[in-house]
Amino acid sequence: MTIVNILERLSNACGVSGREDEVRGLMKKFLKPYVDEVTEDKLGNVIGVKKGKKNAPKVMLATHMDEIGLLVKTISKRGFLQFAKIGGIDDRVLLAQKVKVYTEKGPLHGIIGSKPPHIQKEEERKKIVTYDQLFIDIGAKNQEEAKKMGVKIGDPISFDIKFARVGKDIVIGKAFDNRIGCAVMIEAMKQLKKTKCTVYAVGTVQEEVGLRGATTAAFGIHPNVGIAIDVTVAGDMPGVKETEAPIKMRKGPAITVADRGLITHPKVL
Ligand SMILES: [Zn+2]
Repeated sequence: MTIVNILERLSNACGVSGREDEVRGLMKKFLKPYVDEVTEDKLGNVIGVKKGKKNAPKVMLATHMDEIGLLVKTISKRGFLQFAKIGGIDDRVLLAQKVKVYTEKGPLHGIIGSKPPHIQKEEERKKIVTYDQLFIDIGAKNQEEAKKMGVKIGDPISFDIKFARVGKDIVIGKAFDNRIGCAVMIEAMKQLKKTKCTVYAVGTVQEEVGLRGATTAAFGIHPNVGIAIDVTVAGDMPGVKETEAPIKMRKGPAITVADRGLITHPKVL
């Protein structure tokens, strides 16, 4: 499987923070051929280990497996779903999105709707509709039918965007933050033939809600060096100045020198 095929599988899977099961299963499967063992800790982080020499320094690679998404908050009497936002979601992108609600009976298709603009007042139409005014229509007649379809409070909801290739060498899809990191880490382990250090390839949970999995994994492993693989903003697009985001597509990976949470050690740089 190529890195693009792996990214496709990971991108199409659901992994809303705290409900990473599907992605976790894929990560275990894809890491397995390239590490000595794959385990899972109590929080749900996936840990692949490639052993180095005895007492060798430990290097931890970490990529978060979770994605921003929604959770079912309430089921209305008429059968519509109200939802909570998980992670930093911009309300402006929610309206008219197709979604999948992952129930114990399997995924259901749905669409995010609002009060139609035809019957909105002039001033209502000018405002951004906030998420708490939106609802998901899964085609249920009423609350009872929605429940019969398998929907429960707390079910994860992900955006229904299928992976696709566009242009010559570009792909589009959902949850590239951070399934690209996951695919890159798997590829790195594939290319790592022999190692003096012991290398931990960790797929972490609940990053989008505060780096929770990575913190737990780091305390469990105690690495000498930790490298987090994640996405960043490419600035070569309309409306962005070079000084705001100097990173460009097709120019290779970027290394964080310093950000709000970290100043990278010169030896790691
Ligand atoms: Zn990320």
